[in-house]
Amino acid sequence: MQHLDERAARVQLAEVAREIYARKLSGAMDGNLSIRLGKDRFVTTPSGVHKGRLTPADMLVVDAAGRVVGTPAKGPDGKQLKPSSELGLHLVSYERRPDIGAVIHAHPPLAIAYTLAGGLLSEPLVSEVIFAVGQIATAPYTTPTTKQVPDVLAEYVACYDCIIMPRHGSVTVGATLDMALARLDALEHTANIACTVKMLGGAPSIVPAEVDRLFDLARPVPPPYRCEGNACPPPEPSAARRLDPPVISDLEARLVQEVLRAMGKLL
Ligand SMILES: [Zn+2]
Repeated sequence: MQHLDERAARVQLAEVAREIYARKLSGAMDGNLSIRLGKDRFVTTPSGVHKGRLTPADMLVVDAAGRVVGTPAKGPDGKQLKPSSELGLHLVSYERRPDIGAVIHAHPPLAIAYTLAGGLLSEPLVSEVIFAVGQIATAPYTTPTTKQVPDVLAEYVACYDCIIMPRHGSVTVGATLDMALARLDALEHTANIACTVKMLGGAPSIVPAEVDRLFDLARPVPPPYRCEGNACPPPEPSAARRLDPPVISDLEARLVQEVLRAMGKLL
């Protein structure tokens, strides 16, 4: 794999972090991004800095054990910047996936909301998600910032490129930072459609035979989770670990219809 040089990686990280914040795919202090520089070197966003204000100089170089290499820049409080407490999820992703060059951990609001409400993003409603992401997977809940996160993520990231961590956020990976961003974008776009479909009364998923055809077109080399006898975890946690979908009252359903009708008149 061709690796970026450190200077280019710092510039890309600052640009994409600012874009993620501007598009509200994460809150100002949430999420983190990284790029692989080489076998034992990665560059990552620091913790405690507003994502809309990050500059290339703020980025930190770390090794595969998460130790900072070189002298970090100083943060707004005058202290040296530190990597995020979620760095472990990046390092485990690189360890399990030699084919990837970048990782984005974000907090996309619609994807989180839809899965919290019991929606299954693993069920394809639109063909494009198969081209951009393949299969969206939802891991079991883990407590943010603890070792539980990389421990559970390890088996998911070995198989999937786009993973939701319930009540928390997403992890998308790719050969490049742009690819990881495109997958985050596809995840939130799909969740946006899925939320709207649910408000309009629901729609069936794409039939399995057509899903097979789309995968054959999108991924001539089948991803691990579509290979015979694979050891991948299923794309949704067991039913016992999911939340029941909320029950919407008749009054709430009528209100939603009214709002949608009013929106239709405005458009
Ligand atoms: Zn997070």
